[in-house]
Amino acid sequence: MSLFRAEGLVKRFGGLLATDHVSLAVEAGEIHALIGPNGAGKSTLVNLISGLLPADAGRIVLDGVELTALTPHARTRAGLARCFQISSVFRNDSVRDNLLLAVQAQAGSSFRCLSRRDAEHALQERAEALAQRTGLAEVLERNAGTLAHGLQKRLDLALALAARPRLLLLDEPMAGMGPEDSQQMVELIRSLRSETAILLIEHDMDAVFQLADRISVLVYGKVLTSGDAAHIKGHAEVQAVYLGTEVAG
Ligand code: ADP
Ligand code: MG
Repeated sequence: MSLFRAEGLVKRFGGLLATDHVSLAVEAGEIHALIGPNGAGKSTLVNLISGLLPADAGRIVLDGVELTALTPHARTRAGLARCFQISSVFRNDSVRDNLLLAVQAQAGSSFRCLSRRDAEHALQERAEALAQRTGLAEVLERNAGTLAHGLQKRLDLALALAARPRLLLLDEPMAGMGPEDSQQMVELIRSLRSETAILLIEHDMDAVFQLADRISVLVYGKVLTSGDAAHIKGHAEVQAVYLGTEVAG
């Protein structure tokens, strides 16, 4: 059984069918990339999965639990976390405080049996461990708003990881990055593979081909095809409608 399944998802904006009966599975341990031209409906699909937008039809199942009727918050508690194209960090707070808020939200009342001091200590440790693994240890005391773009994207990712997701949704994590930041982000995403499955929307095809176990191509709200990199590179229709000669190389 797949870790995650979306079945027959539909979203209409007025007369526009932005999501046209999309079915998609993500396996445990998999990085599944979603590509497609601008306006294909990639972000809409992520919004349907995360619960930011209600679906007109279809269902969403994570680990055997149906999430379709749940709020975004409840979906996060059920194991589904997302990073935003637009950063969700509190710009006037330090990196540490942003991380603390996120780990606190995840911990809930799980430290109930600890003394206040021990609970505080445990939260600080989790926040610092997250900073360590996302490359933010050096900037913990900086105001989040003063971080360079690449570091803000890392913080955004760290905040999503604080929820301890089973499935992480990433909508263009390399957007606006230069080659160096992009490559670091590729490595960071790759390092998450053992911890969570990932649905990755990304324009940077180098990154997609480096990371993805499977790639689905969305065109006009429909899945055109799914397969590994070789399948996508060799797919005539994909080349014609979207990638042109870019994938040939
Ligand atoms: P992508 O992320 O693949 O570029 P989107 O999911 O953002 O595509 O958009 C898919 C289509 O739905 C586009 O035609 C877009 O204009 C339209 N769309 C997206 N969000 C809305 C909205 N809130 N209201 C109306 N139309 C929307
Ligand atoms: Mg988009």
